[in-house]
Amino acid sequence: MDSSSPIDIQERRARFLLEFENPFKCEKCGERFKRKKYLQEHKEETHSY
Ligand SMILES: [Zn+2]
Repeated sequence: MDSSSPIDIQERRARFLLEFENPFKCEKCGERFKRKKYLQEHKEETHSY
């Protein structure tokens, strides 16, 4: 009857924490960052033109 396995819950929690702790997401590659500054640096280094 229980459709959610412990692994599913762990994965969901991990994903939630990842999104919660890294709210700044790169729209181009989907990578996440804790600080807006890190995201800007990533964009400049990785997606510069
Ligand atoms: Zn990116």
